Amino acid sequence: MLVKTLLNSIEKHKCFVYDKDRLVDCDGCPQLEVEISPRKNSRARCSGCGASCPGYDRLDVRRFEYVPLWAIPVFFVYAMRRVNCPDCGIKVEEVPWAAGKHQHTRSYSRFLAKWAQRLSWSEVAEVFGTTWNRVYDAVRWVVSYGREHQDLSEVTAIGVDEIAYKKGHNYLTVVYQINQGSRRLLWAGIDRTEATLKGFFSWFGEEHSEGIEFVCSDMWKPYLNAIRDKAKNALNVLDRYHIMANMNKAIDKTRRKEVQRLKERGCEPVLTKSRWCLLKRVHNLTTKQTAKLDELLAYNLRTVKAYLMKEDFHRFWNYVYPRNAEKFLESWCQRAMYSRIEPMKDVARSLRSHRHLILNYFRARKEINSGVVEGFNNKIKTTTKRSYGFRVPEVLITALYHQLGELPWPPATHEF
Ligand SMILES: [Zn+2]
Repeated sequence: MLVKTLLNSIEKHKCFVYDKDRLVDCDGCPQLEVEISPRKNSRARCSGCGASCPGYDRLDVRRFEYVPLWAIPVFFVYAMRRVNCPDCGIKVEEVPWAAGKHQHTRSYSRFLAKWAQRLSWSEVAEVFGTTWNRVYDAVRWVVSYGREHQDLSEVTAIGVDEIAYKKGHNYLTVVYQINQGSRRLLWAGIDRTEATLKGFFSWFGEEHSEGIEFVCSDMWKPYLNAIRDKAKNALNVLDRYHIMANMNKAIDKTRRKEVQRLKERGCEPVLTKSRWCLLKRVHNLTTKQTAKLDELLAYNLRTVKAYLMKEDFHRFWNYVYPRNAEKFLESWCQRAMYSRIEPMKDVARSLRSHRHLILNYFRARKEINSGVVEGFNNKIKTTTKRSYGFRVPEVLITALYHQLGELPWPPATHEF
């Protein structure tokens, strides 16, 4: 009796009433069943068009799982009616507590999906005595609702990035909104081709795409092509984070080659355990790493030279006027070309050929914060790590939308 009172206060539906409730035994464990009946004289609604229609017949009793009470599973029990709809024909009725053919109530799905933002999906399944698949279903339903109802009208700045989601060359392309004060994951697609990113623009629609003012991306050619083609009015800015990441890759390459060279010559292995002290910024180094860096700087090594060039390049981002920045860029590239360090020469070549897009950084700086793409990149890594269960990219994409999409939630009569 009390259960009915509770349900009437948290989940009341106009055309239905809660009837009897009872404890039943299921393999030695109690379950709570609550019967539901249609309110007298209320007509069923067609699940095809939502119109109220004359009844046709009644199906067998079905159970819909609700939010558990004191770790006791709760089920709504209801025999669905079928209607004779003038437009859709014979159709099963629509009920407010469950969507489509789902065997669980909207409230329970919402409940599980809420927890799935805080815990890994297997943990949610374990805590609430359900399965991973059940949690996945719940998240998928919430995400698809959110994606249908999200507002895209204010998106004028986006960031494009790629993430490796599995060992080997398995990439996702991700697109964020990076407007000040409104940052979220907008879209994710499998692979990192021109067609992948074009997939985003066709989802986003021509009108919205033309409204984009800034796109922040890395130097990946297929992306640059798609952006030039589809975001016609946007200023494409090469992301600072990606440029510095490329430079770090070049240093690492130089270091590995040099380690090899020193080994072959039988020299002292000064470069071992030096990787991180060369890649991190000075103020992030540990005491031990600082000591190692001091030691290295005493040697006339290519790696050290490359490292100093990278450190010097950080000055580039401090310029205010694009023209001064351009001068610095050119002189830096010249020095790099004379350095006789192949990986650094490659960096210089690529900086030169993308000069125009790099300088856009200074034209857009007031509008976009370049750290934002890096921030998302880290959050994605956390989500990927936490959810080891994602063997298939589609599942990972759903999880990313759920975690980073800032999606609207399906409406609820009660927050659990
Ligand atoms: Zn209908």
